[in-house]
Order: sequence, then structure tokens, then C-alpha cells
Amino acid sequence: MVDLDTIVSLCKRRGFIFQSSEIYGGLGSAWDYGPLGVEFKNNVKRLWWRDNVQLRDDMVGVDAAISMHPKVWEASGHVASFSDPFSGCPSCGRHYRADQLTDAFCPNCGAKMSAPKPASLMLEIFLGPVKETAMKTYLRPETAQGIFVNFDNVLQASRKKLSFGIAQIGKAFRNEITPGNFTFRTREFEQMEIEYFVMPGTDEEWHQRWIDERFAWYQKYGIRKDNIRLREHAQDELAHYAKRCVDIEYLFPMGWSELEGIANRTNYDLTQHSKISGKALEYFDEESKRKVVPYVIEPSAGADRSALAFLVDAYHEEEVRGEKRVVLKFHPELAPIKIAVLPLLKKNDRIVETAKRICADLRKRWFSFYDDTASIGRLYRRQDEIGTPYCVTVDVQTVGDEKTPADEKVTIRDRDTMQQIRVPVSALESVMADLMAERWAEVARQEPYRMSAAK
Ligand code: ATP
Repeated sequence: MVDLDTIVSLCKRRGFIFQSSEIYGGLGSAWDYGPLGVEFKNNVKRLWWRDNVQLRDDMVGVDAAISMHPKVWEASGHVASFSDPFSGCPSCGRHYRADQLTDAFCPNCGAKMSAPKPASLMLEIFLGPVKETAMKTYLRPETAQGIFVNFDNVLQASRKKLSFGIAQIGKAFRNEITPGNFTFRTREFEQMEIEYFVMPGTDEEWHQRWIDERFAWYQKYGIRKDNIRLREHAQDELAHYAKRCVDIEYLFPMGWSELEGIANRTNYDLTQHSKISGKALEYFDEESKRKVVPYVIEPSAGADRSALAFLVDAYHEEEVRGEKRVVLKFHPELAPIKIAVLPLLKKNDRIVETAKRICADLRKRWFSFYDDTASIGRLYRRQDEIGTPYCVTVDVQTVGDEKTPADEKVTIRDRDTMQQIRVPVSALESVMADLMAERWAEVARQEPYRMSAAK
């Protein structure tokens, strides 16, 4: 298993993730996504949205504001009880989450820690120019409440029938006592949440369906079976509103940790918001002619944690002809760059021109990248290290004068096997479509695309 420092340093070197405000010494609890990181994380969010919203007819989305009325947080119970137990060290001044300490002594200096007390995770904000009269509210600690308060709006506008769900992706903020482990725990992060509304009585079955579905989702995009598991919450661990909760855990470099929580939140939130706002949040059931308050199943994932898990899982080190090769074996849909187009000789104008033209064509369909800043071997290694599934190399034969168009061929190289095939430029797009659908073996068997030795 790769250690976190190796991932942090690769992320910085290749432009996936930088420390926030680094030139000022850095802010430990926040990270910035760089040119490749933004593409990668957008892919995580896009695939989640596509699979959970666009490919289902029982789901719709919202994008609610980050700042919400302070009463939302009273109704949800966050103001009163969204806290973690906090313990400080009187000797070295460090503080820790008391539930993560193994004994009563400071892990840093060994002194006796203070008795645990609750520390609110809510970050206060003041809306308005004059602090004394400004409205005090909070940066949302979860995106879920933006869904609950819009339940009736969405129901009226979309005319959905139970069972249906509302999804949201967006930033959330928590004043974590001990942020750390890179992007695993930060004070600002992104969530991908679903509130799935069901008839009371069908909630347990729907809960199980969502657990199975979400567990399969991570594996569909490459997480290895051995590195992911489910963990049932014990009764005394359950949040006050939850009937049952199951975490999806991933084997991160620091050990098994939560990737996503899937809770049966009962009708707690809708009931609370009805009570405090005075607005009924109900569903009229045509069949029984009764109004019901739906139960809610909540699959709640972190975009940053998912991205970190996909990154760690994709990381491989191999030895190729006596040299270390680092390769990120991303699922093609997750890879930040899909195709790199590389000229074999950068001093040959016709090769360079052709490579640039091919890249511009491919880019219309897949995010592609042209690079001629090193020798071909170095260029391949660079693409391996950022997880680009395919490299297309343009050589003398691609631009040869006397050839017929069918002879104008490029080399396609596969990231994982380093195998190569020769493909006419005219067939490049259709072959690429097959390859992106992970059909390398099928394509390589076809006669004209003879396979050559690995490089
Ligand atoms: P933890 O026990 O790790 O603090 P939690 O149980 O409080 O997490 P939830 O409230 O269930 O987390 O949030 C849902 C998801 O949001 C988590 O599974 C995680 O992926 C993500 N998440 C929560 N807190 C953070 C954080 N501080 N930084 C990054 N992601 C987070």
C-alpha cells in the first residue's frame, strides 16, 4: 500500500493538488486542486451525477445556496448538538478529538489531557455590512438540509411520485478539531448527497438497495474489492435521527476509514422543518388518499474523499527494464487527460503540425493533450504518472508523401500493458471509441492494427 506522503508529493509535482496558501506557509485544513486535479475531481462528480441523477427517472437535482436561514440549523439539531468531543493538552497546547485518543494522555508529549467537552463543528458567518445588526448564521456543515427545505418546491415542480430522490453536490464546512490526512479531513470539502424519499414501511428495503448500489458504484470505477468494505453502525453509535446506518469504508494508507455513510434518517428532518417553519412538508398518497411524511434514505459521500480513494487505488509502482515506473491506473472515465498526442521527432515540422492537428480533432470528443517537451520515453512516463490511458504517437510514416491515406498510421500505446498498435489516422476516432470502452483486446486482434512490442 502506497503511503500518503508519496501521494501528496505526486499530487503537487504533477499539478493535482496543492496546499492552500502555500506561499504564506500553507493552511493545513484546506487544499487547492490544480490543472489535473480539477479535471479529475470534476470527473468524479460528473460520473456520480450521471449515474445517480441523469440515468435514473426517480431522481432530480438541486443546487442550493451555501448560506441558509439560521432557523434551518436549529430545526435540524445542528446548533444544539453538531459537535465532537474535544480534549486539550495543558502542557504542549495540542488538541485532539477525545473519541480518537487511546488513553487519557497526550499523543504528542505524554501529559495528562483535559477532560473531554463538546466543541461545535459549526462555522459562524455574519451576513450584512454592520456586524452588530448582521444576521448570524452558519456555513452549511452538510448539503442535505438544502434538499429538505426544498422538498415541497421540488415535489410541486417535478410532480414526482414516491419513491424518488433529490441529489446535490456542493461545498460543506466543518470546524474539525483535527483536520489531516491530506484531503481526507478538511474544514472545507465537497459532498455528493442524495435524499431518497420513500413510503414509511418500505424504508428498510430501500436502505439495503442503496447500500448495495453505492458499494457497487466505487468498484465500477476501479476500486479494488479487497480495499472496500461495509461497516454497520452499532446502536450506541447511531445519530439521534437514524434508524440504521452503514458506512462504506476504504482502506486508506492510514487504515480503514469512512468513504460514504448511508443512513435511514426516518422522517426526522421533514418533521422538524414542518414544526419549526410552520409549513407542512408532506406527500399526498393517491392510493390511500392520505397525507404521509416520507421516510428518507441518505447516501452521503465526500467528493474529495472519493477522489482520494480513487487516486490511492490507482497508484502502482512497477519495474520496467530495471527502472521504476509509476503509473496511475485510473478508469478511463476518471482520468484527467484521456489521450496524449506526441510527435516522435519534434524537429520535423510536418510531424509536429500533423500531431497538433490530430490532437485538435481528438479534443472535440476527449480531453486530449499535445506534448513535445521531452524524448518519447520520458513523455510516456509522464503520461503514465498522471494516468492518461492512451498515447498517440505521430512519426515519419504518418506524414510520408508517397503513401496512400490508408498507410498514414499512428501508434496507439496502452498505459497499463504498454502494448502498441498501429492504426490509420482515418480510423483513429472510431478505434479510440472502442478503446475508451475498454476493448483493447478486441481492437488489437484486428488484422490491420498489428500489435508491436511493448515500449
Ligand atoms: P467522520 O466520522 O469521518 O467525521 P462523518 O460521519 O461526520 O465523518 P458524514 O456527516 O456522514 O461524515 O458526512 C458524509 C461524508 O462527507 C463522509 O463520508 C465524507 O466522505 C465526507 N466528509 C465529512 N466530513 C469531511 C471532512 N471534514 N473532510 C472531507 N470530507 C468529509
